Amino acid sequence: MVALDRSSQVETMVRRPFLPFNQPDLTSLEIDEVMDTLRSGWLTTGPKTKLFEQRFADAVGASKAIAVNSCTGGMHVALAAAGIGRGDEVIVPTMTFAATANVVVHQGAKPVIVDVAADTLNIDPAAIENALTSRTRAIMPVHLYGHPCDMDAILAIARRQNLLVLEDAAHAVGAYWHDQPIGAIGHATVFSFYATKNLVTGEGGMITTGDAYYAAEMRRWVLHGMSRDAWDRYSEHGSWYYEIVSPGFKYNMSDIQAALGLHQLERLAAMNRRREAIVRIYDDGLAGLPEVTLPSTRPDVRHAWHLYVIRLNCEQLTIERDRFIEEMRQAGIGASVHFIPLHRHPYYRDSQRLLPSDFPVAEDAYSRIISLPLYSRMSDDDAADVVGVVRNIVRRYRRS
Ligand SMILES: *Cc1c(COP(=O)(O)O)cnc(C)c1O
Repeated sequence: MVALDRSSQVETMVRRPFLPFNQPDLTSLEIDEVMDTLRSGWLTTGPKTKLFEQRFADAVGASKAIAVNSCTGGMHVALAAAGIGRGDEVIVPTMTFAATANVVVHQGAKPVIVDVAADTLNIDPAAIENALTSRTRAIMPVHLYGHPCDMDAILAIARRQNLLVLEDAAHAVGAYWHDQPIGAIGHATVFSFYATKNLVTGEGGMITTGDAYYAAEMRRWVLHGMSRDAWDRYSEHGSWYYEIVSPGFKYNMSDIQAALGLHQLERLAAMNRRREAIVRIYDDGLAGLPEVTLPSTRPDVRHAWHLYVIRLNCEQLTIERDRFIEEMRQAGIGASVHFIPLHRHPYYRDSQRLLPSDFPVAEDAYSRIISLPLYSRMSDDDAADVVGVVRNIVRRYRRS
């Protein structure tokens, strides 16, 4: 639908109904499986969680997978099981969701926040080098927007310095670095199945690792530090006896969540292909606009396309990012910003006395980035409407 904006005498495009920024892609397969779980009488961690773990491990080429109730919980457990705590430093990128750094603080360790690379906004290996100290124990690369980090460079630093590599793969289910799936590279990788992610269980996550000993430690930390889980204790051949061998957390996944995950995993390749089709519509439809920089993909990676993030070239526009998003909303398109850099949040800024000038790449990007809607339930027409609205706003606020 197109309406005339009388004030500027330029046609304003308005899409109706409103296109939300995100919607989960659930079918009767997931819904029936949840009903089956409810009827089975086994609600918490049980046979469906075990099956989901096995299938997920196979899908990412990892020998072990541990289902958890969030990516945040999974990252916390991975740090705890590695013995990271007071006096230790963990290097994290500033361009991430707060959970990546919060879990380091929960362990009593210090997140050392570093700047990102200009093209992908992923953690910058040169910035990691500059941040190393005798207290550094781990690096937490975040595969931002679904684009894999430079794992060759990160693994080389980690090997040389004997550091743990704990990947935040909240965005990266289905991504590949060279021919290696994300999930089979670092010491541990943690995925998110939060309601907005590529694979959803409402709330949920998965830790993968190739290290059987580390996996066993993490599995214990996920459930109270108990020597055996509920399925072992309450099923027919279980025993009532258990021992607490560490002061663990309560981060296990339920079979209700796993019921969703089993079918989401089967549909993941098709859902990610649908995202790629929308990305092509955006790439083609927004190409050639000097006012907008489109996301770039490095060679030899497979992008999971969790988010499609454009950057406004503000020098060429008479509108700032925040108002651009407001114009999009009024034109019927939901948009967002990923992320407010960690160094701008009062807790990290004030407790570590962080300065914007220490993060020039993230600072520049933050003022320009807009995440467009990208999810498998979108139609080609939805994507074309997004292109039309973005182009229309650019046309109305073009400088000169
Ligand atoms: C969503 C997200 C998380 C947290 O995932 P939860 O499953 O909600 O705990 C962590 N890191 C990044 C980069 C995220 O986008």
